[in-house]
Amino acid sequence: MKGIIFSGMRPTGKLHLGNYLGALENWVKLQKEYSCFFGVVDLHALTTGYNHTEELKENIKEMLIDWFSAGIDPEKSTVLIQSYVPEHAELHLLFSMITPLSWLERNPVLKEQIRDLGLKENIDYGLLGYPVLMASDILIYKSNAVPVGEDQVHHIEIAREIARRFNSLYKNIFPLPEAKLTRISRVPGIDGKRMSKSLKNTISISDPPKIMEQEIKSMITDTQKIKLNDPGHPDICIVFTYQNIFNPDQSREISAGCQSGKLGCVECKKILAKILINKFDGFREKRKYFEKNPKIVQEIVIEGSKKARKIAKKTLEEAKKAMNMNYE
Ligand code: ADP
Repeated sequence: MKGIIFSGMRPTGKLHLGNYLGALENWVKLQKEYSCFFGVVDLHALTTGYNHTEELKENIKEMLIDWFSAGIDPEKSTVLIQSYVPEHAELHLLFSMITPLSWLERNPVLKEQIRDLGLKENIDYGLLGYPVLMASDILIYKSNAVPVGEDQVHHIEIAREIARRFNSLYKNIFPLPEAKLTRISRVPGIDGKRMSKSLKNTISISDPPKIMEQEIKSMITDTQKIKLNDPGHPDICIVFTYQNIFNPDQSREISAGCQSGKLGCVECKKILAKILINKFDGFREKRKYFEKNPKIVQEIVIEGSKKARKIAKKTLEEAKKAMNMNYE
């Protein structure tokens, strides 16, 4: 029996290098070994974006194009839209009955979001319940592994707690899911903070070469290295962090060149830009095809949602039966 995977992304814009290295690249590889469900989690996008839903449709399309161009294969994996499988929402409601408020209030991911988005005490019920909905996304397919970036690990721990609590209260029907991290599970943004759409510090994987080059050019390097010959400090330089991630074969040489003052920041950035632009050459080519054929993208996700729904229905029925909610 193959293991089961669920992972999702919020349709909040084009995917960035963090989404790619922290999750998407791993999803593509895992398709061979696991039965995979990949969800466009549009309900989750509402937790912070309920006041600009006019962007949703376009964001969903762009994100799906990114997924398929990166190698998500609908022949191998089920690709779904969360709100097209309403069983996610119903299981979320059942789970919300057995989730202590304290688990959600002390959630460090929420605290980070409150800080980053400047929400202060002003948070909504839906955002507080984000991990409960995520537990439902994962458990409705009885997934045992969830490939995500480091920022999501605590949410998976909450999903495990909810599964454990359900199993001990009613019946042992849910596996305890585990996070599956990649080699690079936290990609910094061009400002050094975690790369995130909400912080506007991203490099999109679909950016045309010229834009990627400009973004890399604008990155702040070691502020003490002003002239070409000044010795640099790669350990505190964000461009060098990127060299380490994307150009590991050359990173020793680059570090030595920077420290000795032989390699200047402009040249170092040029090397990085070339590597990054090449890395996504094939991706950009495939993207052109899907951009011209949006109907294909739509058909895949509608079919995928139907397929997912059949499985989700079964699990929901099982859960309701375990809770004595079958009255016939
Ligand atoms: P964002 O924070 O940009 O809105 P999402 O919350 O939609 O991104 O995350 C989608 C996936 O990408 C999740 O698995 C998340 O862990 C991963 N991810 C997001 N940002 C990063 C990052 N900077 N480094 C590694 N993984 C990331």
